[in-house]
Amino acid sequence: MRAPPRARRLTVRTRIAPSPTGDPHVGTAFVALINYCYAKQNGGRFVLRIEDTDRVRSTPASEAAILGALHWLGLQWDEGPDVGGPHGPYRQSERLPLYAKYAAELLAARHAFKCYCTPERLEELRREQQRRKVPPGYDGRCLNLTPGELAEFEAAGTTFVIRMVVPRDGTIVVDDLLRGPIVFECAKIDMQVLVKSDGWPTYHLANVVDDHLMEISHVMRGEEWLSSAPKHALLYRYFGWEMPKLAHTPLLRNADKSKLSKRKNPTGIEFYRRMGYLPEALVNFL
Ligand code: GLU
Repeated sequence: MRAPPRARRLTVRTRIAPSPTGDPHVGTAFVALINYCYAKQNGGRFVLRIEDTDRVRSTPASEAAILGALHWLGLQWDEGPDVGGPHGPYRQSERLPLYAKYAAELLAARHAFKCYCTPERLEELRREQQRRKVPPGYDGRCLNLTPGELAEFEAAGTTFVIRMVVPRDGTIVVDDLLRGPIVFECAKIDMQVLVKSDGWPTYHLANVVDDHLMEISHVMRGEEWLSSAPKHALLYRYFGWEMPKLAHTPLLRNADKSKLSKRKNPTGIEFYRRMGYLPEALVNFL
């Protein structure tokens, strides 16, 4: 175990980290606004990072639209892919060697392992878990491969993913500025894939590495990311890094408390712009 991390962050640094996979959403503007205000209130800096590790769904057009929409709302960031900054590049697809380096570190420390399970086996596992009515998740098979089995896979050049080790007992406590301490049972946390078979990182690895390297002090994001928080907490522990302060905000909702959805009402920032709403009005409403 490494020495406990030293407190080193003095400056407030917040970020918005959109994935460029669709039209700019009012929820992104809402979370960006919270992060922007918090940074400005505290004399800090607001960073924009593009999380484009989903190679299939990410598009340059979506990235341009998100940046354009946030600019239109007047949410100017101090660092980002278009304005640069001391912690760049600010687009995850341009940071792949960094993630590879940190994944190798986790592997070497046995905080992560190579998983050679085929999609067919994982599908079979999922169906069996469904039948048994237990939560879906990886069963740890490749965690216990013998050195002989491992050597065989390596020699054959079998494709693999890298998963994080998650202890099967104990709990992880995540402190949330809005919700207080939240306790997660390790047994219910999946051994998350950190690196996909094509060598690209998943959201979890890239997000933690970048928040650390970009010296983010406060992670404020929608509550749909709460279930990721214990995985991130473990990763910070494995790396020996101080975890940023966390706040998971409520989602924007309709008057009847149902989730905003495209099917029921316009959720795209572009819609309001086209309809002639002033950016100040939309920001004020948010
Ligand atoms: N890329 C994630 C998103 O699309 C970022 C979530 C986070 O802020 O950690 O919202």
